[in-house]
Amino acid sequence: MSSRPSAKHRLRGALGLPPQLFFDALLTRFLAGQRLPGDAVVVFDLDNTLAHTWPSFAQGHAHIWARLASLPPRPEMVELFARVRQRRPWLVLTAREYRTWPTTLAWLRRHTGVRESGRVIMVRSAAEKLPILNRLRLAYGRVLLIDDMSRNHEHGEVLSYDEVMAQLARIGITHLGVDFIEGVTRATVSEAERAIEAACQGQPAHVVDPGPDAAARPATSGGS
Ligand SMILES: [Mg+2]
Repeated sequence: MSSRPSAKHRLRGALGLPPQLFFDALLTRFLAGQRLPGDAVVVFDLDNTLAHTWPSFAQGHAHIWARLASLPPRPEMVELFARVRQRRPWLVLTAREYRTWPTTLAWLRRHTGVRESGRVIMVRSAAEKLPILNRLRLAYGRVLLIDDMSRNHEHGEVLSYDEVMAQLARIGITHLGVDFIEGVTRATVSEAERAIEAACQGQPAHVVDPGPDAAARPATSGGS
């Protein structure tokens, strides 16, 4: 199922705000909610983190809405996402075109059961995630970002958003990246959950050993 191109116009018309202001308002509303002292917030990326995205660039979809709607979930990451939602405040933060928000919500509803549209924040680039993460850090004190922060896999050379990751470290965001994500298998979901919980409590995060079934899993990368 995919939303048609008019979704962009429906989004703006329904919200009465330019998209950037709309997502800023969503974040403000999220931050206005109750939280416990010392709470940490866990932020999940979508492409190549919850969804297996990069091969879709070569699949010849008619339009971006069809491509995004077709993305297969990464089952182990979806399971981990579900577990984290039981324990911690959470958000989805994805660098996608604003006009794909309805398709993005539909994908999350279908594959993860998430219906909280107010927790799905879109930006236009990996770098635009930084001010949002910084606002979260100022409010929560501790932010854990689970995000592959890689791109270009479909062109045969995986690149990382090195400058963005350096900025994450500078502003004090704990980041679990592609190594962590690729280490999450059916056998290691519980270990990954414990690693996230430890990171939320300020302990050093660590990469989960992917174990023997990792070779059967698709690699992650592409997009942001
Ligand atoms: Mg990504």
